[in-house]
Amino acid sequence: MNLISNFPPTAELQALDAAHHMHPFTDGAELAAKGARIITRAKGVTLTDSEGEEILDAMAGLWCVNIGYGRDSMAEAAARQMRELPYYNTFFQTSHVPAIELARKLAEIAPGDLNHVFYASGGSDANDTNVRLVRHYWAAKGKPEKKVIISRKNAYHGSTMAGASLGGMTGMHAQGGLPIPDIVHIGQPHWYAEGGDMTPEEFGRARARELKAKIEELGEDKVAAFIAEPIQGAGGVIIPPDSYWPEIQRICDAHAILLIADEVICGFGRTGQMFGSQSYDICPDIMTVAKGLSSGYIPIGASIVCDEVANTVAEAGDFNHGYTYSGHPVACAVALENLRILEDEKLVENVASGTGPYLAEKWRQLAEHPLVGEAVIRGFMGSLALTPDKAARAPFAAETGTIGLIARGHCFENNLVMRHVGDRMIIAPPLILTKSDVDVLIERAVRALDLTL
Ligand code: PLP
Repeated sequence: MNLISNFPPTAELQALDAAHHMHPFTDGAELAAKGARIITRAKGVTLTDSEGEEILDAMAGLWCVNIGYGRDSMAEAAARQMRELPYYNTFFQTSHVPAIELARKLAEIAPGDLNHVFYASGGSDANDTNVRLVRHYWAAKGKPEKKVIISRKNAYHGSTMAGASLGGMTGMHAQGGLPIPDIVHIGQPHWYAEGGDMTPEEFGRARARELKAKIEELGEDKVAAFIAEPIQGAGGVIIPPDSYWPEIQRICDAHAILLIADEVICGFGRTGQMFGSQSYDICPDIMTVAKGLSSGYIPIGASIVCDEVANTVAEAGDFNHGYTYSGHPVACAVALENLRILEDEKLVENVASGTGPYLAEKWRQLAEHPLVGEAVIRGFMGSLALTPDKAARAPFAAETGTIGLIARGHCFENNLVMRHVGDRMIIAPPLILTKSDVDVLIERAVRALDLTL
């Protein structure tokens, strides 16, 4: 029975959805056959579907609802701003208060001299900005040939042409003629799948040195930047060995290569510090942010840029780039309220020293399950590798490659949202998660794993 009476019945909604709504990253035939689960409301960490079922959302939507669902003050911030100034652009020598205040706030909380904000509508288009920004920067420095951007296999940097080209997902490259020119990919620091006989630390260093080798192969005078997520999210929550990031930072510094940290998932508390870069002690020249910036209540993204790059670009005349919704006043007002909640409720601290250690302990115990090869977690980003052979760290064969899909289905039937990437199961819950939520999450995850066996 529908709880909100003016909704059509579920079956009717599903039929309309399949008939008219094209879903992102979805098999349309499967959707038409099964029908989407229709989410009607949410509060805290709990979703409610059109049948009144309550579901624990261990993915915070798409890794974004950091402050949890159903916050009245977020709605009030949006309504207040809509009444005051619903829209004005930040092009052509104009600005407005929410864009200024949010830029100041981001400059305050971002590490190092990341003091300048270029707004976008989400993470993909913020990464498009980064591609143009770093190439324009080097051109302004008199080095227009320095334009190659090095990224990593299995990275995710968005779905636009530039975002998906920066990403290293072969399935995305296969559709639509990607990658665009002057983007190349090196290996990912995925020890469990690719580390062989090396220790994680040896492997982390070896993978970092692929960056040096690639710069030397292309020539330092051709390479503009290296982009990476502090922890690869959509690639399967790949937590790098501790040796990886210090070596990457050293190589970027030694070769005058800009470092872009894509913090779209890691930013705003998910790793236990405000930014993933702080968790790994790195000093990026540019950070990409989105998702947790507004906790997904409204679309907004940004590039947060260091003094040297921003000042050089500012002195070089017009930067011929921008979006109608760059610095949208309502989005900025909502993001400011989101950051207030994050700080006032000490949600980053909840990840670092509140619920976080309890979640980590319970999550790592899942490695004892017969189907689980490794159970890793950093802050509120965790993954399980499903395996038919723990000792060999073996993946499931391609024809049984639906194992993650099956496990995800059992999670969903048990009213738990977890994602899967191939053989890996993933969580990224809202940062408000409590210890009793953790107990429910683990109990449902174990039940789903047992059903998958
Ligand atoms: N960068 C990373 C690391 C992401 O995880 C994502 C989305 O998941 C993006 C960029 C793209 O962001 P959006 O979907 O807001 O365009």
